[in-house]
Amino acid sequence: MSTITLAIHGGAGTILREHMTPALEAAYQQALQRALDKGYAVLEKQGTALDAVETAVKDLEDEPLFNAGKGSVFTFNGEHEMDAAIMDGSNGMAGAVAGVRGIRNPVELARAVMQHTEHVFLAGRGAEELAKALGIPEASPDYFFTEQRNAQWKLAQESGQTALDHNIQLKDKKFGTVGAVACDHAGNVAAATSTGGMTNKRWGRIGDSPIIGSGTYASNHTCAISCTGHGELFIRSIAAYDVSCLMEYKGMTLEEAMRMVVMHKLVKIGGEGGMIGVDAAGNAALLFNSEGMYRGVRSSSGVSEVAIYK
Ligand code: ASP
Repeated sequence: MSTITLAIHGGAGTILREHMTPALEAAYQQALQRALDKGYAVLEKQGTALDAVETAVKDLEDEPLFNAGKGSVFTFNGEHEMDAAIMDGSNGMAGAVAGVRGIRNPVELARAVMQHTEHVFLAGRGAEELAKALGIPEASPDYFFTEQRNAQWKLAQESGQTALDHNIQLKDKKFGTVGAVACDHAGNVAAATSTGGMTNKRWGRIGDSPIIGSGTYASNHTCAISCTGHGELFIRSIAAYDVSCLMEYKGMTLEEAMRMVVMHKLVKIGGEGGMIGVDAAGNAALLFNSEGMYRGVRSSSGVSEVAIYK
């Protein structure tokens, strides 16, 4: 039996203690712990890594504190367009959706693309039609409305900027793309990522999260990775797959490979953010080059923690 491990993130960026109230910090910690425990419970009951990452990400999507599902940020046009992906490291199967509107849990739709179609990646209307055909839960625009996101969006509109949700300075900040990676009792790994993208994004902009190899990747031979940060730079770096390649072709450990990508390669091009990873032995790493990253990790080796700052 392998070491079972689950790691989660709720986004990275300028997350500073001085912007946080004790109550808000406690709320984040509770939300992270809840998602971590739910996903870990799947692994404890001999469930698969794939089910564990979907369970954890769905819980984070339902939590308005994070920028995914219910807490998704506003686009330039005042809508919510969400991206998500899931990948099964045991067989290399993957599913992803981009720019979907009115879907309660985009990660569930990404998994449906993987399991119920011959495709990997569906965008916009086609993905939404698939959700209808399969009876995947939808939600009206007011489900996705949150005061904080609306205030952030207005600030971004005034400055004419597109921004990582965590980097818009508000007194009461509620941020974060979400993701999970897991290794199950059979040594299979999986990854999932879900996001509302960047505040004030335009023209059908798609980030790294749903792009297999950039924001999300899993292979039993190397690792499972879920990224968060400035998507454009993660796309250009093929960040998640780069970690896998460094392990496969250079013989690096998970931690060494992630350090190379997050702390060197991404930093060099100004790619702010971080990532979480597990390997098939159940080792985990959680790294970021920003001020903070909402994160948590739990493992049968005895590790259990949630954290926010450096
Ligand atoms: N990577 C996401 C994107 O660019 C944003 C984030 O991680 O907060 O869409």
